[in-house]
Amino acid sequence: MLRIDKMIYLKTAEEIELLRESNLLVSKTLAELAKLVKPGVTTAQLDKIAEEFIRDNGAIPAFKGYGGFPASICTSVNDQVVHGIPSDKVILKDGDIVSIDCGTFKNGFVGDSAYTFCVGEVSAEIKNLLETTKNSLFKGIEQAIEGNRIGDIGYAVQNHCEAQGYGVVREMVGHGVGRKMHESPEVPNYGRRGSGPLLKTGMTICIEPMINLGRKELRFERDGWTTRTIDGKCSAHFEHAVAIKKGKADILSDFGIIENVLSNLN
Ligand code: MG
Ligand code: MG
Repeated sequence: MLRIDKMIYLKTAEEIELLRESNLLVSKTLAELAKLVKPGVTTAQLDKIAEEFIRDNGAIPAFKGYGGFPASICTSVNDQVVHGIPSDKVILKDGDIVSIDCGTFKNGFVGDSAYTFCVGEVSAEIKNLLETTKNSLFKGIEQAIEGNRIGDIGYAVQNHCEAQGYGVVREMVGHGVGRKMHESPEVPNYGRRGSGPLLKTGMTICIEPMINLGRKELRFERDGWTTRTIDGKCSAHFEHAVAIKKGKADILSDFGIIENVLSNLN
């Protein structure tokens, strides 16, 4: 992650609508990719389709060139945790999982959301990892309300995943989102209740649990981007952008668009 400014920018209602537009475009892009994720497809093919779709919708792929990242999406297969680089050498096969993280930039605001897909038929053990990771994201979102603190979100995610014996990644965290992809505050997937920055209406953050089937530790690949679990076991990643409100967070991205596609494929 690049060095980020410590200021937490509160957004107006109009700015939140622009963020929603950028984030819904990410969800629509992921839904397009959902149609294509199957054995035999390369992650480079997915990247190409994503870039075309984002540009056809009047936006720019926010990841491309960010800190030198070479592609429009991150594709992290099996034991890759996040920041996997799409490649024509990575061919998806039956039983794999692939986390696709996607970013858009439109009307001055960033969209950033991720979903982990099954390739063909995946084991029950891995399906449970995906289900638990996604559920932990929603547990975190339940805590993302005015008056709570950042630590309440992390506590909820951590507690939900560790109860199943999973490893909660520490090195990478969620973040504020707005005109920049990474704004303050950091949003860890672990923490103590009542700790960290106070949540206020107008804050917009990405909550993105990265959860490992086994140990929580990572290692970094020599490509300078890809991270893998240290024990070689699978890792899952789901990310939503949300706006903090009183009582209930406003989710700016939408998994429903993706899951409609997935249910029609089956
Ligand atoms: Mg992301
Ligand atoms: Mg993010």
